[in-house]
Amino acid sequence: MRKNLLKGVAAAAGISIGIAYLYEKQIEVVENEFITDVDEALKSFDTALKKSQKELKKIFKLAVDKMGEKRAGIFEAQMMILEDPVLIDIIKNRIKSEKRTPAFVVDEEISKYQEVLALSKATYMQERKHDIEDIKNRIIRNLKKKKWKSRIDKDVIVVSNNITPADTVLFSRENVKGYVTNFGGLTSHAAIVARSLHIPAVLGIHDATAKIKNGDILVVDGLHGEVIVSPTDEQLKYYQDKHNRLKEYDTELAKLVDKPAETLDGRKIILRANLDIVEELEYIIKNGAEGTGLVRTEQIFNLEDEFPDEEQQYKTYIDLAEKLYPHIVIIRVFDIGGDKVFPVDVKEPNPFLGWRGIRFLLDNEPLFKTQVRALLRASAHKNIKFMLPMVSSLHEVRRAKEIVECCKEELRIEGKDFDNNINIGIMIEVPSVAVMAEEFAEEVDFISIGTNDLIQYLLAVDRGNEIVSSLYKEFHPAVIRTLNKIIKLSKLGKARASMCGEMAGDILATPLLLGMGLDSMSVSAAAIPHIKKIIRSINYEEAKNLAEECLKFKTEREVRERLLEFFKQNFSDELENFV
Ligand code: PEP
Ligand code: MG
Repeated sequence: MRKNLLKGVAAAAGISIGIAYLYEKQIEVVENEFITDVDEALKSFDTALKKSQKELKKIFKLAVDKMGEKRAGIFEAQMMILEDPVLIDIIKNRIKSEKRTPAFVVDEEISKYQEVLALSKATYMQERKHDIEDIKNRIIRNLKKKKWKSRIDKDVIVVSNNITPADTVLFSRENVKGYVTNFGGLTSHAAIVARSLHIPAVLGIHDATAKIKNGDILVVDGLHGEVIVSPTDEQLKYYQDKHNRLKEYDTELAKLVDKPAETLDGRKIILRANLDIVEELEYIIKNGAEGTGLVRTEQIFNLEDEFPDEEQQYKTYIDLAEKLYPHIVIIRVFDIGGDKVFPVDVKEPNPFLGWRGIRFLLDNEPLFKTQVRALLRASAHKNIKFMLPMVSSLHEVRRAKEIVECCKEELRIEGKDFDNNINIGIMIEVPSVAVMAEEFAEEVDFISIGTNDLIQYLLAVDRGNEIVSSLYKEFHPAVIRTLNKIIKLSKLGKARASMCGEMAGDILATPLLLGMGLDSMSVSAAAIPHIKKIIRSINYEEAKNLAEECLKFKTEREVRERLLEFFKQNFSDELENFV
């Protein structure tokens, strides 16, 4: 490993080269002191609270401008804590009864919030702890009437122990070129903000602030999660060239937006996008997707508290259908369970083998019916299709179809419009369905291969477990042979096969998938131009030969090496920059 290389979490892609600015957050120290004038203390608490609310409102406004309403919601959540009447009452009562300084009480009370979050097993909740730290410090600083030092030099790469979402937004005004931190993960709000603002970020390096000095030249490679400290001339040149190439490549890709995803010998591929948050829609349209191939409904709604009602769901689905018209919008019904949100309190020893997806929906019929009714009503323009997750037996498909018919009948009686021929598909994520793909294809209108789960179930490797992550292999011969079978069997069963798992967005896999006969894919909005470029640069006939060769290999290594060789011959730029 190169000596001046630091490895961390690849939190926001892109390369940037710049000067390190070590940012140290001032942490206010609070002493356990007593007061004599209660009224004065309450007044100063009110003033500090108002000032903090005002500051946060300003940050929220800036965030809305820079990254849209939904993502700026992080700050709205912080404002809600500042306005929480229960919390404010508790603090005021303690100031009155205990006669302690407001700073001390604020510190103790808000720390309690943080402790609850810290106990949570979910990484996401644990990371919210840092957001709350920001609020606590903000009020205490305002109680001490101190100015916030969030000024930094312009055009620098910020290196810090941790970084709050508020800092991330505020610093972006100074044209920050990158973020490097000791702590923080992929799902931290700072990472989400950095990605939305397109600022390369490598987080969670642990000793970044010990190894980097103010003024050091840094290279941040946000795609690979690497930071080079004081690069050699050779390294600097390498990354400068790479940076320039990526820029040129982006300009090239932008020219493909209106071009079809078609191979050199004229095979047309449907290229759609996966949608996890509604705000992605704009990006999906901008990148030229032919609609969506997977809308994760369990993600677009906040299911932590309750399920959205029919009206709320209808509004969201019809909006997608109208904005993407005449393109097709494939929506997946709630895939709850496994590692996903679970608003119902259930503890399972093996959640991935438990009450997931369609199993949960069939056991909660009113909930399923609400979603189906909303989807049917939104299908009036005839561009909505929907699909069922985690199917493992034909019985589930048949039962789901009966429920859909029942919903149609209800809507007919109510005189509500819908697409009577709405297409229903299934995800193939479970090996039992892969084996019987022909019979399933006969039963439904389309199928979509969910490689994220299919690989984990086929290879018995938990997709989220770091310890076994090296065994999770998309080019394992058993995986690619299974995919090949699914594609062929679906054709026999007369249903079109598509793929919406992450494998569809991996450019290294594209020639192989095309060669196996896949003619429809759904990938992240960002991957669309990349995949389109590969599709438009290969011959279907050549891809078929490549697939035939790969399907004979007995080890993952042979498959991967053959694909790398293919890339070396045909896509050396992509190989160097994106694989
Ligand atoms: C999949 O399993 O490949 C898939 C697309 O579903 P999710 O990642 O939402 O489980
Ligand atoms: Mg899945």
